[in-house]
Amino acid sequence: MLKIAIQKSGRLYEDSIKLLKECGIQLSNGNKQLKTIADNFPLEIYFLRDDDIPQYVFDGVADIGIAGENVLLEKAKDLELDYRLGFGKCRLSIAVPKTTAYFTANDLQGLKIATSYPVLLQQYLSEKNINAEIHEISGSVEIAPGIGLADAICDLVSSGSTLFTNGLKEVEVILRSEAILAVNKDLSAEKKILLEKLLLRINAVKQAKNNKYIMMNAPNGQLKNIVALLPGMKSPTVVPLSSEGWSSVQTVVNENDFWDVIEKLKQFEAQGILVMPIEKMII
Ligand code: ATP
Ligand code: ZN
Repeated sequence: MLKIAIQKSGRLYEDSIKLLKECGIQLSNGNKQLKTIADNFPLEIYFLRDDDIPQYVFDGVADIGIAGENVLLEKAKDLELDYRLGFGKCRLSIAVPKTTAYFTANDLQGLKIATSYPVLLQQYLSEKNINAEIHEISGSVEIAPGIGLADAICDLVSSGSTLFTNGLKEVEVILRSEAILAVNKDLSAEKKILLEKLLLRINAVKQAKNNKYIMMNAPNGQLKNIVALLPGMKSPTVVPLSSEGWSSVQTVVNENDFWDVIEKLKQFEAQGILVMPIEKMII
Protein backbone atom coordinates (compact mmCIF):
# COMPACT_ATOMS: atom_id res chain seq x y z
CA MET A 1 0.00 0.00 0.00
CA LEU A 2 1.33 3.43 -1.01
CA LYS A 3 0.43 6.38 1.25
CA ILE A 4 -0.12 9.82 -0.23
CA ALA A 5 -0.61 13.07 1.71
CA ILE A 6 -2.70 15.78 0.10
CA GLN A 7 -4.03 19.12 1.34
CA LYS A 8 -7.15 18.74 3.50
CA SER A 9 -8.77 21.89 2.16
CA GLY A 10 -7.47 24.94 0.34
CA ARG A 11 -6.10 25.84 -3.03
CA LEU A 12 -4.51 22.48 -3.85
CA TYR A 13 -7.33 20.23 -2.60
CA GLU A 14 -9.61 20.21 -5.68
CA ASP A 15 -6.80 19.75 -8.21
CA SER A 16 -5.16 17.00 -6.15
CA ILE A 17 -8.42 15.04 -5.97
CA LYS A 18 -9.06 15.68 -9.66
CA LEU A 19 -5.62 14.35 -10.57
CA LEU A 20 -6.25 11.12 -8.63
CA LYS A 21 -9.65 10.75 -10.32
CA GLU A 22 -8.13 11.29 -13.76
CA CYS A 23 -5.63 8.58 -12.86
CA GLY A 24 -8.62 6.27 -12.44
CA ILE A 25 -8.34 6.19 -8.65
CA GLN A 26 -11.70 6.22 -6.92
CA LEU A 27 -12.19 7.58 -3.41
CA SER A 28 -15.46 6.66 -1.80
CA ASN A 29 -15.38 8.81 1.33
CA GLY A 30 -14.53 12.46 1.10
CA ASN A 31 -12.11 14.38 3.29
CA LYS A 32 -14.32 14.32 6.36
CA GLN A 33 -11.86 11.85 7.84
CA LEU A 34 -8.12 12.16 8.28
CA LYS A 35 -7.52 9.30 5.87
CA THR A 36 -9.23 7.09 3.35
CA ILE A 37 -8.34 4.12 1.15
CA ALA A 38 -8.84 4.12 -2.62
CA ASP A 39 -11.32 1.54 -3.93
CA ASN A 40 -9.33 0.30 -6.89
CA PHE A 41 -5.64 1.11 -6.32
CA PRO A 42 -3.46 0.21 -3.31
CA LEU A 43 -3.35 3.83 -2.17
CA GLU A 44 -4.11 5.33 1.21
CA ILE A 45 -4.86 9.06 1.21
CA TYR A 46 -4.05 11.31 4.19
CA PHE A 47 -5.67 14.74 4.34
CA LEU A 48 -3.34 17.25 6.02
CA ARG A 49 -2.42 20.93 6.24
CA ASP A 50 -0.06 21.69 3.38
CA ASP A 51 2.64 22.96 5.78
CA ASP A 52 2.82 19.54 7.47
CA ILE A 53 3.15 17.52 4.26
CA PRO A 54 6.97 17.85 3.80
CA GLN A 55 7.63 16.58 7.35
CA TYR A 56 5.17 13.68 7.06
CA VAL A 57 6.72 12.54 3.78
CA PHE A 58 10.24 12.96 5.16
CA ASP A 59 9.36 10.88 8.26
CA GLY A 60 7.77 8.21 6.07
CA VAL A 61 4.34 8.58 7.71
CA ALA A 62 3.30 9.23 4.10
CA ASP A 63 5.38 7.92 1.18
CA ILE A 64 4.53 10.73 -1.21
CA GLY A 65 2.68 14.04 -0.95
CA ILE A 66 1.32 16.86 -3.04
CA ALA A 67 2.36 20.34 -1.93
CA GLY A 68 3.43 23.65 -3.40
CA GLU A 69 7.08 23.98 -4.31
CA ASN A 70 7.09 27.10 -2.11
CA VAL A 71 6.20 25.02 0.97
CA LEU A 72 8.52 22.14 0.05
CA LEU A 73 11.52 24.42 -0.47
CA GLU A 74 10.75 26.50 2.62
CA LYS A 75 10.66 23.38 4.82
CA ALA A 76 13.87 22.18 3.11
CA LYS A 77 13.44 18.47 3.86
CA ASP A 78 15.55 16.00 1.92
CA LEU A 79 12.87 14.76 -0.52
CA GLU A 80 12.72 13.93 -4.21
CA LEU A 81 11.02 16.86 -5.92
CA ASP A 82 11.22 15.82 -9.57
CA TYR A 83 7.55 15.47 -10.43
CA ARG A 84 5.91 18.78 -11.29
CA LEU A 85 2.15 18.60 -11.56
CA GLY A 86 1.24 21.72 -13.54
CA PHE A 87 -1.36 23.16 -11.16
CA GLY A 88 -1.25 25.49 -8.12
CA LYS A 89 0.90 27.95 -10.05
CA CYS A 90 1.91 31.10 -8.20
CA ARG A 91 4.94 33.31 -7.51
CA LEU A 92 6.68 34.12 -4.27
CA SER A 93 7.32 37.83 -4.63
CA ILE A 94 8.51 40.87 -2.78
CA ALA A 95 6.11 43.81 -2.79
CA VAL A 96 6.41 47.35 -1.45
CA PRO A 97 3.83 50.14 -1.00
CA LYS A 98 2.92 51.75 -4.34
CA THR A 99 4.33 55.05 -3.13
CA THR A 100 7.79 53.62 -2.32
CA ALA A 101 10.42 54.56 -4.90
CA TYR A 102 11.91 51.28 -6.11
CA PHE A 103 14.49 50.72 -8.86
CA THR A 104 16.63 47.69 -8.03
CA ALA A 105 16.83 44.96 -5.39
CA ASN A 106 19.36 47.18 -3.64
CA ASP A 107 16.47 49.40 -2.58
CA LEU A 108 15.52 46.61 -0.14
CA GLN A 109 18.70 47.35 1.84
CA GLY A 110 17.83 47.99 5.49
CA LEU A 111 14.08 47.43 5.10
CA LYS A 112 11.90 45.36 7.39
CA ILE A 113 10.19 42.63 5.32
CA ALA A 114 7.22 40.64 6.62
CA THR A 115 6.83 37.06 5.35
CA SER A 116 5.74 33.50 6.09
CA TYR A 117 8.73 32.32 4.03
CA PRO A 118 11.80 33.34 6.06
CA VAL A 119 14.06 30.61 4.63
CA LEU A 120 13.39 31.38 0.97
CA LEU A 121 13.53 35.12 1.58
CA GLN A 122 16.84 34.87 3.44
CA GLN A 123 18.31 32.77 0.61
CA TYR A 124 17.30 35.43 -1.89
CA LEU A 125 18.64 38.31 0.21
CA SER A 126 21.95 36.52 0.83
CA GLU A 127 22.40 35.80 -2.90
CA LYS A 128 21.93 39.50 -3.62
CA ASN A 129 24.05 40.63 -0.65
CA ILE A 130 21.18 42.56 0.83
CA ASN A 131 20.88 43.25 4.54
CA ALA A 132 17.24 43.43 5.47
CA GLU A 133 15.33 42.51 8.59
CA ILE A 134 12.97 39.54 8.18
CA HIS A 135 9.82 39.70 10.26
CA GLU A 136 8.13 36.30 10.28
CA ILE A 137 4.33 36.25 10.47
CA SER A 138 2.04 33.35 9.70
CA GLY A 139 -0.86 34.97 7.85
CA SER A 140 -2.34 38.18 6.40
CA VAL A 141 1.14 39.27 5.39
CA GLU A 142 -0.23 41.75 2.86
CA ILE A 143 -1.60 44.07 5.55
CA ALA A 144 1.76 44.42 7.34
CA PRO A 145 2.96 47.61 5.59
CA GLY A 146 -0.46 49.28 5.99
CA ILE A 147 -0.42 48.81 9.77
CA GLY A 148 3.19 49.88 10.14
CA LEU A 149 4.53 46.42 10.90
CA ALA A 150 6.95 46.29 7.96
CA ASP A 151 8.26 48.27 4.96
CA ALA A 152 7.77 45.47 2.47
CA ILE A 153 6.37 41.94 2.23
CA CYS A 154 7.38 38.65 0.64
CA ASP A 155 4.30 36.56 -0.13
CA LEU A 156 2.53 34.36 -2.69
CA VAL A 157 0.95 36.13 -5.63
CA SER A 158 -1.11 34.82 -8.51
CA SER A 159 -3.23 37.55 -10.11
CA GLY A 160 -1.81 40.37 -8.02
CA SER A 161 -5.27 41.61 -7.03
CA THR A 162 -4.62 41.16 -3.29
CA LEU A 163 -1.49 43.28 -3.59
CA PHE A 164 -3.39 45.90 -5.52
CA THR A 165 -6.22 46.19 -3.00
CA ASN A 166 -3.63 46.60 -0.24
CA GLY A 167 -1.84 49.41 -2.06
CA LEU A 168 1.23 47.31 -2.83
CA LYS A 169 3.29 46.72 -5.99
CA GLU A 170 5.21 43.56 -6.87
CA VAL A 171 8.90 44.40 -7.33
CA GLU A 172 10.84 41.09 -7.28
CA VAL A 173 9.83 37.49 -8.06
CA ILE A 174 11.92 35.16 -5.93
CA LEU A 175 10.31 31.82 -6.91
CA ARG A 176 7.89 30.56 -9.56
CA SER A 177 6.04 27.73 -7.88
CA GLU A 178 3.63 24.94 -8.78
CA ALA A 179 2.34 21.80 -7.08
CA ILE A 180 4.88 18.99 -6.88
CA LEU A 181 4.59 15.31 -6.04
CA ALA A 182 7.22 15.00 -3.32
CA VAL A 183 8.64 11.51 -2.73
CA ASN A 184 10.33 9.99 0.31
CA LYS A 185 13.88 8.95 -0.63
CA ASP A 186 13.80 5.56 1.13
CA LEU A 187 10.81 3.81 -0.39
CA SER A 188 10.73 0.01 -0.24
CA ALA A 189 10.98 -1.92 -3.51
CA GLU A 190 7.28 -2.75 -3.29
CA LYS A 191 6.32 0.90 -2.85
CA LYS A 192 8.58 1.94 -5.71
CA ILE A 193 6.66 -0.37 -8.02
CA LEU A 194 3.37 1.21 -6.92
CA LEU A 195 4.85 4.68 -7.38
CA GLU A 196 5.94 3.79 -10.93
CA LYS A 197 2.38 2.67 -11.69
CA LEU A 198 0.98 5.90 -10.32
CA LEU A 199 3.56 8.01 -12.22
CA LEU A 200 2.71 6.25 -15.48
CA ARG A 201 -0.89 7.35 -14.96
CA ILE A 202 0.03 10.88 -13.89
CA ASN A 203 2.23 11.29 -16.96
CA ALA A 204 -0.52 9.98 -19.21
CA VAL A 205 -2.90 12.60 -17.80
CA LYS A 206 -0.31 15.40 -18.10
CA GLN A 207 0.62 14.46 -21.67
CA ALA A 208 -3.03 14.32 -22.66
CA LYS A 209 -3.59 17.83 -21.30
CA ASN A 210 -0.66 19.16 -23.31
CA ASN A 211 -1.82 17.63 -26.57
CA LYS A 212 -4.80 17.71 -28.94
CA TYR A 213 -5.96 15.17 -31.45
CA ILE A 214 -6.56 16.75 -34.86
CA MET A 215 -8.23 15.43 -38.01
CA MET A 216 -8.47 17.15 -41.37
CA ASN A 217 -9.12 16.61 -45.05
CA ALA A 218 -6.20 17.37 -47.33
CA PRO A 219 -5.62 17.38 -51.09
CA ASN A 220 -3.23 14.54 -51.98
CA GLY A 221 -0.92 17.04 -53.70
CA GLN A 222 -0.19 18.65 -50.30
CA LEU A 223 0.20 15.45 -48.25
CA LYS A 224 4.00 15.60 -48.31
CA ASN A 225 4.00 19.13 -46.86
CA ILE A 226 1.36 18.32 -44.29
CA VAL A 227 3.00 15.09 -43.10
CA ALA A 228 6.33 16.92 -42.74
CA LEU A 229 4.61 19.50 -40.55
CA LEU A 230 2.92 16.94 -38.28
CA PRO A 231 5.23 14.50 -36.55
CA GLY A 232 2.49 13.06 -34.30
CA MET A 233 3.40 10.24 -31.92
CA LYS A 234 5.11 8.18 -34.65
CA SER A 235 3.80 9.64 -37.86
CA PRO A 236 0.35 10.88 -38.87
CA THR A 237 -2.36 8.46 -40.01
CA VAL A 238 -3.29 9.09 -43.65
CA VAL A 239 -6.36 7.37 -45.13
CA PRO A 240 -7.95 8.02 -48.52
CA LEU A 241 -11.35 9.73 -48.68
CA SER A 242 -14.01 8.45 -51.04
CA SER A 243 -13.65 11.75 -52.97
CA GLU A 244 -10.91 11.28 -55.56
CA GLY A 245 -7.64 13.12 -54.80
CA TRP A 246 -8.31 13.73 -51.06
CA SER A 247 -7.16 12.10 -47.86
CA SER A 248 -7.99 12.31 -44.17
CA VAL A 249 -4.98 13.09 -41.96
CA GLN A 250 -5.06 12.40 -38.21
CA THR A 251 -2.47 13.13 -35.59
CA VAL A 252 -1.54 14.56 -32.18
CA VAL A 253 -0.35 18.15 -31.83
CA ASN A 254 1.29 19.76 -28.83
CA GLU A 255 -0.61 22.64 -27.24
CA ASN A 256 2.43 24.95 -27.53
CA ASP A 257 2.69 24.55 -31.31
CA PHE A 258 -1.02 24.35 -31.87
CA TRP A 259 -1.90 27.68 -33.51
CA ASP A 260 1.28 27.75 -35.61
CA VAL A 261 0.45 24.31 -36.94
CA ILE A 262 -3.17 25.26 -37.71
CA GLU A 263 -2.06 28.36 -39.66
CA LYS A 264 0.37 26.33 -41.75
CA LEU A 265 -2.21 23.60 -42.36
CA LYS A 266 -4.54 26.24 -43.81
CA GLN A 267 -1.72 27.39 -46.11
CA PHE A 268 -1.36 23.77 -47.26
CA GLU A 269 -5.08 23.75 -48.17
CA ALA A 270 -6.26 21.48 -45.35
CA GLN A 271 -10.03 21.68 -44.82
CA GLY A 272 -12.55 20.63 -42.20
CA ILE A 273 -9.98 20.63 -39.39
CA LEU A 274 -11.41 18.98 -36.25
CA VAL A 275 -9.67 19.37 -32.90
CA MET A 276 -10.42 17.00 -30.03
CA PRO A 277 -9.28 16.76 -26.42
CA ILE A 278 -7.33 13.64 -25.45
CA GLU A 279 -8.24 11.95 -22.20
CA LYS A 280 -5.09 9.86 -21.65
CA MET A 281 -1.90 9.56 -23.64
CA ILE A 282 0.58 6.74 -23.06
CA ILE A 283 3.82 7.18 -24.96
P1 ATP B 1 -3.46 24.97 4.92
O1 ATP B 1 -4.71 25.10 5.69
O2 ATP B 1 -3.37 23.62 4.24
O3 ATP B 1 -2.22 25.33 5.69
P2 ATP B 1 -2.88 27.39 3.38
O4 ATP B 1 -3.84 28.48 3.73
O5 ATP B 1 -1.50 27.43 3.94
O6 ATP B 1 -3.60 25.99 3.69
P3 ATP B 1 -3.57 27.71 0.57
O7 ATP B 1 -3.88 29.17 0.56
O8 ATP B 1 -4.67 26.74 0.39
O9 ATP B 1 -2.67 27.29 1.83
O10 ATP B 1 -2.47 27.48 -0.57
C1 ATP B 1 -1.89 26.24 -0.78
C2 ATP B 1 -0.86 26.36 -1.86
O11 ATP B 1 -1.48 26.77 -3.08
C3 ATP B 1 0.23 27.40 -1.67
O12 ATP B 1 1.25 26.97 -0.80
C4 ATP B 1 0.72 27.60 -3.08
O13 ATP B 1 1.65 26.59 -3.43
C5 ATP B 1 -0.53 27.42 -3.93
N1 ATP B 1 -1.09 28.69 -4.47
C6 ATP B 1 -1.45 28.91 -5.74
N2 ATP B 1 -1.89 30.17 -5.94
C7 ATP B 1 -1.81 30.79 -4.77
C8 ATP B 1 -2.11 32.11 -4.31
N3 ATP B 1 -2.59 33.05 -5.13
N4 ATP B 1 -1.94 32.38 -3.02
C9 ATP B 1 -1.51 31.45 -2.18
N5 ATP B 1 -1.18 30.19 -2.56
C10 ATP B 1 -1.31 29.85 -3.84
ZN1 ZN C 1 -0.57 26.17 4.94
